[in-house]
Amino acid sequence: MAQIDHLGIAVKSLESARTIYEKLGLTVSPVEIVEHERVRLVMVPVGESRLELLEATSEDSAIAKFIAKRGEGLHHVCLRVPDLAAIVDRMKKHGVRLVSDEIRTGAGGHKYIFLHPSTTGGVLMELVQEKT
Ligand code: ZN
Repeated sequence: MAQIDHLGIAVKSLESARTIYEKLGLTVSPVEIVEHERVRLVMVPVGESRLELLEATSEDSAIAKFIAKRGEGLHHVCLRVPDLAAIVDRMKKHGVRLVSDEIRTGAGGHKYIFLHPSTTGGVLMELVQEKT
């Protein structure tokens, strides 16, 4: 069964964005860098879900482009699914548009893929493989 794994939030600065969560008494993870997405990120566990704060490391990062266009804010919703490969096959059969063709490996070694906002009511949706 799918669950909300995390909400991704685009920020200009991790250092300043994290302070509100620290003031709320939440634990902020160490900074992680995902080179191929050109982002630095931290995770903030909230109950069974998490918030992912994302900062661009380069002007051509999707996060930099998002902030240039829309400002800081909610960037994507991520669902955790039991069998990512099977779901990606099913999405392709149904003609659902994906941001990339291949499943990639991101923060924390998670396997992930993004569904294009044009097929999800304007919400960028990430799917991650449940850890087994
Ligand atoms: Zn994410």
